[in-house]
Amino acid sequence: MQELLAYYDQREAESLLTILVQYFFGLSQSGLITNADFRLSESEMLQLHFAVKDLKKYRPVQYIIGETEFFDLKIKVNKAVLIPRPETEELVQLIINNEKQRDLNILDIGTGSGCIAIALKKNIPFAQLTGIDISDAAIELASENAENNKLNIAFAELNILDQRQWNLLGQFDIIVSNPPYVTNAEKNRMDNNVLNYEPHQALFVADNDALVFYKAIFHFSENHLRQNGKIYFEINEEKGNEIVELAKSKNFVNVKLHKDINGKNRFVSGSKVSVI
Ligand code: GLN
Repeated sequence: MQELLAYYDQREAESLLTILVQYFFGLSQSGLITNADFRLSESEMLQLHFAVKDLKKYRPVQYIIGETEFFDLKIKVNKAVLIPRPETEELVQLIINNEKQRDLNILDIGTGSGCIAIALKKNIPFAQLTGIDISDAAIELASENAENNKLNIAFAELNILDQRQWNLLGQFDIIVSNPPYVTNAEKNRMDNNVLNYEPHQALFVADNDALVFYKAIFHFSENHLRQNGKIYFEINEEKGNEIVELAKSKNFVNVKLHKDINGKNRFVSGSKVSVI
């Protein structure tokens, strides 16, 4: 503990240690002992030693232990994928609240660890879920996460910016995406734990083309989103109005900008209508 206080404030250091102890000693969230044997093997001791060493280099604890929780589900993470954020849980909740009743075909673009697709499938069991990502390592991990959670989801390595690959995908009722949206200009405001460890491919877009993924997804939606189908995006808090205008210019209706728990513009939803 003492060792970490030079690097983290008291509360953070405590919560990081709790996570490590739970992981290494098999304690449950409530502190109940699920594995009464407190002895660590030599290799576990070594792992714990390196874990603390890594924390001092601001390596995210989720990468150190290789897993995190998202929407009460265990999700494995590695350096090929972003660590799922609490805001993204809110995006999933928004979709579940709005869409629970129907039989749906849902596409998650830039699925990463698969967290969105997995949480949706778990909570809307009759929906069919597809997740795509440009990274084969991400797709491999997402598939593993779906399997570990006993959920049936189709994952495919696919680059949404490459139109030639679009015909590999069918038609959907809902398209959801948390694409890269941090501009390079915003890079220097980011923390080292993000900047030095999370995949830049999943985070950053060029300053002069910050909406590149949203534009591609609207274009893709022309033929791959059904009439009255919905889009749900996580967005850069600075781009809310721009993305709302973009959606309207693409004939989406009922376009809404939603705030996250921190009061920041974080999500955009909308419905597709036919152009008459
Ligand atoms: N919300 C993430 C962050 O600020 C970024 C996620 C993304 O680019 N899609 O680190």
